Amino acid sequence: MQVSEQAMSLHQRAILVDGHNDSIIEHWARGDSMDLTPDWPDYQVDLRRMKGGGLTAMNSMMGGQSLDQSLELWDGLYEQVEAHPEHYMIVRSVADIRRCKEEGKIGHIPQLESCRLLGNSLRVLHIQHRLGLRVGNLTHGDGGGTSLQGTNSLFGPCTLQDRNTARTQFHGLTDFGREAIAEMNRLGIVVDLAHTHDRTFFDALEVTTTPVEFSHGCCFSLCPVWRNLTDEQLKALAENGGVIGICFYPRFLELNADTVPIDRLVDHIAHVCEVAGEDHVGFGSDYDGIGETVATPASFLESPQVTQRMLERGFSEELILKFWGGNFMRVLQAAEDAAQA
Ligand SMILES: [Zn+2]
Repeated sequence: MQVSEQAMSLHQRAILVDGHNDSIIEHWARGDSMDLTPDWPDYQVDLRRMKGGGLTAMNSMMGGQSLDQSLELWDGLYEQVEAHPEHYMIVRSVADIRRCKEEGKIGHIPQLESCRLLGNSLRVLHIQHRLGLRVGNLTHGDGGGTSLQGTNSLFGPCTLQDRNTARTQFHGLTDFGREAIAEMNRLGIVVDLAHTHDRTFFDALEVTTTPVEFSHGCCFSLCPVWRNLTDEQLKALAENGGVIGICFYPRFLELNADTVPIDRLVDHIAHVCEVAGEDHVGFGSDYDGIGETVATPASFLESPQVTQRMLERGFSEELILKFWGGNFMRVLQAAEDAAQA
């Protein structure tokens, strides 16, 4: 695809914030160094492709299932940033994201995927926050026991009827889930509802006092799987002031598809705009979290093509800047502003 001068210049101006990245945990899982600086051809992300594609900052996943594992990931993150302060920064505020853009650095916005590692302890949450946690995802699908939701999430294709039935049968947030959300609000940690089941999704929106992220997922109307949001959920997300990061995983973009064109990604952006409004959508790649599957775009190097297609489909430059990072930054800022010392 040809990228026009206008698209390229807009892309270079944009602050790109990615709602979900699994690179550090994937390196840990494969026993590789957690330093993203060298070229890593067997992964979807490395410094060359992040900088080449204009990435500014990303939610970097620091585990969620076990505390031991999470601490190893934190150590890997700190080691990487301390070894290469000219390339990376741990983002503690929206101002830090702007600083990354000015200084040409990649910002890591620390994110948990699942809060199972908290056990029943808010003190563990406090320590995670001191380490730098800024986005707290409630569940990676887990439920019951020490989870924040009472029932496991479901995965795979489903009908709208299935979802309506499930909403009446599932147990939503646990009592500890409610406490944890209140504490995240107090600390300025954004609540992330990706992977929650529907009942928990709606419960959490009632409890949280700040806008949420749905850090990586797509639209159910265009691809009916449990992991995608129905139009009703998109509207509720907008009412909360939240944002969904459209995921680059083909199977969430098109039912049973192994590959999709970049246009399909833009279809999902357009759908959120139509149903929920243009302030509530961004991108959440899930790079290095989707196995062998080829993502769309395949790497950040192809992200200017997404800008090109958004322009061709009539989105204004101002809106495209919001989609790439402005909407995620607004949500982070809201959490920051509401945090109590
Ligand atoms: Zn995920």
